[in-house]
Amino acid sequence: PVRTSAIALCRTPGMAAEEAYTMKIICIGQNYRAHIAELQHEVPEQPVFFFKPDTALLLRNRPFYLPEFSQEIHYETEVILRISKVGKYIPEKYAEDFFDAVSLGFDFTARDLQRRCVEKGLPWEISKSFDQSAAIGRWIPKSELPPVSALHFHLNLNGNKVQEGFTGDMLFGVPRLISYVSQFMTLHMGDILFTGTPVGVGPVHIGDRLEATLEGQDVLRCEIK
Ligand code: MG
Repeated sequence: PVRTSAIALCRTPGMAAEEAYTMKIICIGQNYRAHIAELQHEVPEQPVFFFKPDTALLLRNRPFYLPEFSQEIHYETEVILRISKVGKYIPEKYAEDFFDAVSLGFDFTARDLQRRCVEKGLPWEISKSFDQSAAIGRWIPKSELPPVSALHFHLNLNGNKVQEGFTGDMLFGVPRLISYVSQFMTLHMGDILFTGTPVGVGPVHIGDRLEATLEGQDVLRCEIK
């Protein structure tokens, strides 16, 4: 039989690096006060993080197909960072050296399943880590953008602005996130860090068009099918 897991690790011409290498997608939760309030969660004392597997990647503005296991898939638009160096116990003051590019991503979430997990105090992977749940936008070198602590971004849903974020409003800024996560696990080149969603999350339906803009640049589009 063909071993598909082995095939997935081979890089073929034209394949994006994110598709070719084993990497981890680290996602920060509850990092903007207004979003924490809209989900009625508690404000955390330390950063909260979880993972998506490489099979969650949705690249090149490909469409998102609504899965049958949820009746309530939400978009969450987040600033994402591409880790560019191996690091462990990274001090906050050096965190900036460990990523080289910035973009936006959609942390697609099965809100109905997440609610059930939260109520029962269970891990919430089934609501967060399914196939295609990590849409990744076009990377922009960080040198071409304002500082990561002062980025403006927004999401249009069918042409209407539904989310607007400013990274200066994060509860825990990027240096803290990188430093904190790297206490527990080594960061590798190619890892991707989702930094949390601002307020305004909501459901998607078949036919919806999502368009996310970072500092005036269209970096990520997705059609819901
Ligand atoms: Mg999120």
